[in-house]
Amino acid sequence: MSPILQNLVEMTGHRDHLRLEVSVLSTLQELAGILDVRALEVFSCNDALHVRPRTWLENGRWLSATMDAAHDPHRVPLSELPELQECIARHEGSAQSTLGKGRHRLWLPIWMQDKVTGCLEITQSRPFSAQKLHVITGILQVYQNYQSLLDYSERDALTGLLNRKTFDEQFARQAGSAPSETRPHLRPDGTMDPRASPTAGTQHWLAVVDIDHFKLVNDRFGHLYGDEVLILVANILRNSFRSHDRIFRFGGEEFVVLLRSTTLETAHRVFNRFRTSVESYPFPQVGRITVSLGFVSTDTGAPVEILGKADQALYYAKENGRNRVCYYDDLISGGQLTAKVSNEDVELF
Ligand code: GH3
Ligand code: MG
Ligand code: MG
Repeated sequence: MSPILQNLVEMTGHRDHLRLEVSVLSTLQELAGILDVRALEVFSCNDALHVRPRTWLENGRWLSATMDAAHDPHRVPLSELPELQECIARHEGSAQSTLGKGRHRLWLPIWMQDKVTGCLEITQSRPFSAQKLHVITGILQVYQNYQSLLDYSERDALTGLLNRKTFDEQFARQAGSAPSETRPHLRPDGTMDPRASPTAGTQHWLAVVDIDHFKLVNDRFGHLYGDEVLILVANILRNSFRSHDRIFRFGGEEFVVLLRSTTLETAHRVFNRFRTSVESYPFPQVGRITVSLGFVSTDTGAPVEILGKADQALYYAKENGRNRVCYYDDLISGGQLTAKVSNEDVELF
């Protein structure tokens, strides 16, 4: 098999966006004459588009940024890359620029529907020939087709949020891993280097969110209005958390939020901000609705235990007034809840 074909087989064997991206970058890096390949994240901040490196090769290792894009010191306004800015404004497929020292750069924006989410950046010492561009855009096309298939299988059809299956896969992987630094090492095979060090005082948090008295919405206004409320709550969720936090529709009218690397105080604040955003949102026809939320740190046990604790805190919120955010550890230390027996010795089905 030719090396390119072999790489394409390898690329489409991954069911994980980051590994797929690393595989595409490796494929491009292996093309003759390429000096450097990176994936950039394109994101909006203060109403202006910015870019920052997302995945790149350093001393033979693929590295990936996981910190909040808006606070990344390596971000640059898109206006500093006029060729790319114009290409994105015109919805074009590629842009080129000649750099100093005879280097030539090619940008390939990644489009998801009408929105640009990322960009591949390729640098070489010669101008890009028509044949080279043909090969590169072919690889990009395979990448984008496969990425949209992957995206579709990971999401819930009604709200567009990540689905339960994705939660089960991703949470098992993340649970127990310490919050990582801005640039954890990603090995070429896509696995994380465990030497990435934790950031002081921060943890990951898991919250279970449940709409209060949702059955009444369906009963009073019908299922279609119920669905509309679910879509609008999903939008409020998306607007309430940062790009690297993860939001899942867990089932019916229940959602899970994974908040990355933040302090307890911030977790309290952002979960409450989300709760009040829902409370004050005028849902068409339906009027006002509220949500209850239970949360816990993800460093506190096996995935099933963490979920169980957040659920217990949610149950407490439901039993004690609803429209509340409850932190599991506070309820335990305040004597409102008693810790359940650890699941570690229990055989689970
Ligand atoms: P609580 O405050 O205790 O959470 O009360 P609730 O009425 O929200 O709780 P319950 O779990 O009894 O009701 C959830 C309802 O959500 C029942 C089910 O019909 C509805 N539901 C589940 N999935 C969907 C969906 O996809 N669309 C609509 N419209 N309703 C759904
Ligand atoms: Mg409910
Ligand atoms: Mg429920």
